Amino acid sequence: MKPELRELGLTTRGFMPEDEGMALYEAALSSNHDSKNNSPLLEIGSYCGKSSIYIGAAAAELNKTLFCIDHHRGSEENQAGWEYHEPDLVDKETGQLDTLPHFRKTIAKANLENTIVAIVGDSIQVANNWNTFLSFLFIDGGHGTKPAHNDYDAWTPYIEVEGTLCIHDVFENPKDGGRPPYEIYCRALESKMFQEISATGSLRVLKRIAR
Ligand code: SAH
Ligand code: MG
Repeated sequence: MKPELRELGLTTRGFMPEDEGMALYEAALSSNHDSKNNSPLLEIGSYCGKSSIYIGAAAAELNKTLFCIDHHRGSEENQAGWEYHEPDLVDKETGQLDTLPHFRKTIAKANLENTIVAIVGDSIQVANNWNTFLSFLFIDGGHGTKPAHNDYDAWTPYIEVEGTLCIHDVFENPKDGGRPPYEIYCRALESKMFQEISATGSLRVLKRIAR
């Protein structure tokens, strides 16, 4: 990965430790199982663009497009009074959380504006209007039971065989964090349609082996 992008990944705010970000980059890079195939990469949950840098860096090298979906209003745990609330991300006029300006700045700084297409909206609403196979899917949106399982149900059918599924915040031990990302990781394995490739911190990289 280009050193300047690696540096930007480190300094951009968000929730992606460097080792997991690098694993994400490697996973995205090796998602190019068929070089004649031009299917895009997609991220659910971008926040300020920290993880988008790692996936975007790979997408740029592959000459592919990365779609980044986020309504930019934050998840439950980002709202006022919750654990991951950052007050300076609140738009003073609307009183709502707004990470879109930060995301946009990150992508511009990363020089990835020709690689990344932002989709601002609800991931399920987008999925209901989606019709394109994906070579790579990263799930890091809402971490509650419904949002996580809905993202799994709505988006994993679009991953092509040999394509890559990455899930963030997978904690085998309940003491380390919430269950839903772990539950959808288990669903993927139990479906027998995915095989685990690697685990780095709370990041799980899976490959689609059947449909
Ligand atoms: N990947 C980011 C962190 C994502 S935090 C990083 O590397 O820092 C989770 C994000 O998911 C939040 O920005 C939130 O706005 C978004 N999100 C939650 N539910 C969503 C939904 N239903 N549709 C779109 N985005 C959603
Ligand atoms: Mg995460």
